[in-house]
Amino acid sequence: MKETKEFKTETKRLLDMMINSIYTHKEIFLRELISNASDAIDKRHYLSLTNTELADNYEIVIEANKDERTITIKDNGIGMTKEELEEHLGTIAKSGSKEFLEKVSKENTPDVDIIGQFGVGFYSAFMVAERVDVLTKSVNSNQAYLFSSEGLDSYTIEEATKDSFGSIITLHLRKDTEEEKYSDFLEEYQIKDLIKKYSDYVRYPIKTWVTKYDPKTDDDKDSKEPKTHLELETINSMLPIWKKNKSEVTDEELNNFYKSKFMDYQDPITSIFVNVEGMLTYNALLFIPKKPIYDFYSDRNERGLQLYTKGVFILDKCKELIPEYLRFVKGLVDSADLPLNISREMLQEDRAIKKIASNVEKKILAELSRMLKNDREKYEEFFKDYGINLKYGLYEDYGAKKEQLKDLIILESFNEGKKITFAEYKEKMAEGQKVFYYASGKDKAQVERMPEMDLLKKKGYDVFILSDDVDEFMIKALDKYDDLEFKSINQGDLGLIDEEESKKIDEIKEEKKDLIEKIKKALPNVKDVVLSKRLADSACCLTAGEGVSFEMEKVLKQQHGDVKAERILELNPNHQIFNKLEEAYKQSDDLGNKYANLLYNQALLMAGIIPDDPKAFSNDIVELMLK
Ligand code: ADP
Repeated sequence: MKETKEFKTETKRLLDMMINSIYTHKEIFLRELISNASDAIDKRHYLSLTNTELADNYEIVIEANKDERTITIKDNGIGMTKEELEEHLGTIAKSGSKEFLEKVSKENTPDVDIIGQFGVGFYSAFMVAERVDVLTKSVNSNQAYLFSSEGLDSYTIEEATKDSFGSIITLHLRKDTEEEKYSDFLEEYQIKDLIKKYSDYVRYPIKTWVTKYDPKTDDDKDSKEPKTHLELETINSMLPIWKKNKSEVTDEELNNFYKSKFMDYQDPITSIFVNVEGMLTYNALLFIPKKPIYDFYSDRNERGLQLYTKGVFILDKCKELIPEYLRFVKGLVDSADLPLNISREMLQEDRAIKKIASNVEKKILAELSRMLKNDREKYEEFFKDYGINLKYGLYEDYGAKKEQLKDLIILESFNEGKKITFAEYKEKMAEGQKVFYYASGKDKAQVERMPEMDLLKKKGYDVFILSDDVDEFMIKALDKYDDLEFKSINQGDLGLIDEEESKKIDEIKEEKKDLIEKIKKALPNVKDVVLSKRLADSACCLTAGEGVSFEMEKVLKQQHGDVKAERILELNPNHQIFNKLEEAYKQSDDLGNKYANLLYNQALLMAGIIPDDPKAFSNDIVELMLK
């Protein structure tokens, strides 16, 4: 007897949405139905562990019939009883679908794109089908049933005949419209592609009919058309490479997997295999591409790992799985502890995801640390392309990650002529040196020319050469390394001269108080004029007050900020020019001021800053030359 039953109100609403959906990825229906089939087989397999009679050759078969415009998904899983059909397909049992409904009812105009994220299960069939039949026989019943629905208000259930346990879902495809060609789903290549794309790692074989060419025989000689026949073929690879034992997988296999999955033509720099079992069970496979992909720094390039649950592909670019500063890492995570219907919204709150993400981060940093230690050349190569990301990682959130990242940073060393770590710098520190020195500059040659390097070079102290915009900000976030401070060679007191020398300069300062005051007055843009304790051979230099440095000023300016470094003119009291300056003031304040300005502008140039009034500077020089 055929019974007609009403869907529950909320199911009706969901169905209505599926039928009227303009969602562009309707193809996900196949993924959803295959994963239901796989779950059903899981359940039967579980029962068969104690009841061996139930064991079978498990498989999922997808068949398309172009004449009938049908697709069938056949499984030999646990099947459904009449009650289960009503309960599971007549009402919405799934939390994912419920959440989906709540979300769309809140937002009056549903964002169609969220359908795929929620993965609305069985009901997604109605996005492509005008009628869905479910013929099923439960392992707990001798009677098979046929459920049928056009997705409107009601469905029918009637007794039916079926020999074996399991379910056959038949989708009667909708008619093609201008926007949507549903008949595409009937094409052999399309079915194969969808299985590969979404369900490649489902544990059971997913089979479909595939056209094969017959070998040519003598009889065929004259016929142009090659003869073909159909064969039922398993399309999915079933055991994902990341579920295998690490020792069973060769580097070549990993590299090939990476290249085909993430569409790269080069082998990755490194691959990381993570296998965790326990409270939380998951596998992760991570790769660092040899070179950043071409649009790596564009906004279009979203970060994120692929997320699978139980071998079923759920989401691409899941950014909750990887921190921003590791955005260059590609890969996937497969967990048995996440529901299939996990949505993007749920991800942000999910504790399992947070735990996995934090572990993934640790594993990547451990691998980098290993590379730095054991394969320096490779690490330097890596750092050239990706180091900047680690630097930003250290700088972000006020240095929250500095402990994890500080030993992975390498910076150009003035003395060594190559990039070294903070620890390596410290190890080679000269006797009596108490701080790390750094200078911002394009390269070693530029830093070498800086007047502030005079004394440092004489003493043989090493200096980090900072050439990335983020470098100084990172150093500020780091603050200290092993209790040792960082000092910019052109900021603050460098502590380079001994007490006696220092005292001598302080005495000159006292003596020449009036002169210094005059110079200061001549230079309104200068915060202070001081007698230098960092110069040896050079006449003068420009230093910045504590806080914002010249380099930071430049970077902030690019970001349209208006923070200026304090300019301090340092004069070398032991340099002839200092006496010249004094004499000039003796002749006239005008001449003195002119000399002071010349020195200031030179100091600006040496600090890489264009003089405030280049024309006046040039006129002054010309005048001097004509004397
Ligand atoms: P979900 O699979 O996420 O629970 P669905 O709406 O896709 O949600 O399916 C609802 C329920 O219907 C499933 O939980 C399962 O109990 C049952 N079901 C669906 N497809 C099958 C199938 N092929 N074999 C047995 N049971 C199924």
